[in-house]
Amino acid sequence: MKKLVERVSILSIPFANLSFDEFTSLLFERMQTKTKTFVVTANPEIVMYANAHESYKQMITQADFIVPDGIGIIKAANTLKTPLKERVTGYDTTIRLLEKMNEAKLSVYVLGGKEEVLEKAVQTIESDYPNVSIAGCHHGYFDWEDKTIAADIKKTKPDLILVALGFPRQEQWIYEHFDMFDRGVFIGVGGTIDVLAGTVERAPMFWQKIHLEWLYRLLKQPSRWKRMLAIPKFMMAINKEKKR
Ligand code: UDP
Repeated sequence: MKKLVERVSILSIPFANLSFDEFTSLLFERMQTKTKTFVVTANPEIVMYANAHESYKQMITQADFIVPDGIGIIKAANTLKTPLKERVTGYDTTIRLLEKMNEAKLSVYVLGGKEEVLEKAVQTIESDYPNVSIAGCHHGYFDWEDKTIAADIKKTKPDLILVALGFPRQEQWIYEHFDMFDRGVFIGVGGTIDVLAGTVERAPMFWQKIHLEWLYRLLKQPSRWKRMLAIPKFMMAINKEKKR
């Protein structure tokens, strides 16, 4: 019998309450049973954006799983006294799945990033996970009306499809094309492709442990500051919600 996954609502976005191990095992199981799956890895920015853009909110709430990619979501869940088990990032999920897929000899399609970033990311997958086959790849700067990418994915039937177009485009792309596919786990993974390519470093464990990965990223990529204004706004919205 299928177990129902508990959902925790954070500013009306329903997060799956699963540990990292539970979630990645579940996704791997869905890959093996060829169960088509749409995953959103949501941080406070995405939650705020969804609450300001109803059409995006409609799209992401159609996903099979929305997982908490960001310590801000975990803290918010605690503040609202509806704790979530654990942070589940797009990057960590990608790596764990590639490890499992390497053992099972499954295939991946990588969509997104600049041409040279994509190339390097694919090289990393090929060298670190030699049994994972690359079903195909395409850079992330294509004409939105171009249906050949989706057709290629439909034809090559990858088990995992990493969609790295940044939000909201990656979720929008998955949502708009999802009906075309028969199978595959589709995840919007954003900057994961840059980390795989080695062009952006993941924050060292120290920064992750003290829950300041966001600060590390800001120091490394100061151009992100404007986007990060969403974080204090998110915290204010959570405090308001708590008082209700
Ligand atoms: N990207 C892309 N097409 C676009 C916009 C972004 O392929 O139209 C890529 C971008 O090159 C980068 C990745 O998406 O490799 C993540 O972008 P960003 O850092 O903006 O996303 P986030 O980490 O916030 O999800």
